[in-house]
Amino acid sequence: MVDILHKDLGAFETKICVDTAPLLERAYAHRSGLGWIGHNTCLINQQLGSWLFLGEVLTSLSLECDNPAAFRCGSCTRCIEACPTDALVPTGELEGPAYALDSNKCISYWSIELKGSLPESARAMMGEHLFGCDICQDVCPWNRRAAVTKADEFQPRNALPNLEEVASMTPEEFDRCFGDTPVERTRYRGFLRNVAVAMGNSGKEQFLELLYRMTDSPDPVIVEHALWAIDTLKDKIAVSKS
Ligand code: SF4
Ligand code: SF4
Repeated sequence: MVDILHKDLGAFETKICVDTAPLLERAYAHRSGLGWIGHNTCLINQQLGSWLFLGEVLTSLSLECDNPAAFRCGSCTRCIEACPTDALVPTGELEGPAYALDSNKCISYWSIELKGSLPESARAMMGEHLFGCDICQDVCPWNRRAAVTKADEFQPRNALPNLEEVASMTPEEFDRCFGDTPVERTRYRGFLRNVAVAMGNSGKEQFLELLYRMTDSPDPVIVEHALWAIDTLKDKIAVSKS
């Protein structure tokens, strides 16, 4: 695209970014009319919903400004009500009540970005999420109307392994299964940590043996979460049998 612009407009400087520079992309997207920032804090496009990627061409060209997109959440509060951790918090009135995402309460942040031990208070709230959450996008009516992509790049590559399989993975098997996918971002340690927490929250007795096996891991973070999960699971089993 930049080549076409250069051909039409001559020489000018450009830098292309796709989540690769410290830019608040959704703010620019909103101002350029691509969509509005919903109560779930995502950019929402009227046709595409919020499951989209934002890319930018920074340029030295002097361009005419577009108009910001209108706010179309209306009185909807589905995402706020559906968030299991109350991570969408009000920040004041803009166009309708404005909300911010408190990352310290967000399952996506805990399960993907947070390295090392999860706060004790977060573990039960993680439920059985292994990587990300996005409930606040799943429930958004604008995503229900959006078309599902048929692009090959976005089709599932591997059948998703079940919890038993991922709990027994070696670091090499993790790399083989999740290398070059977004899941790689958690690294082996973070993923196994999340697996232990999910098994603890599941209430399923069959996971106890696997969790005991995870306590043999050489990684103290995995051991810590496996021990937490064993205690949690035993409590849940006891309650279900009482
Ligand atoms: S990703 Fe999940 S936890 Fe985070 S704000 Fe959305 S619904 Fe809440
Ligand atoms: S669920 Fe409702 S309030 Fe939340 S972002 Fe979508 S339209 Fe806006």
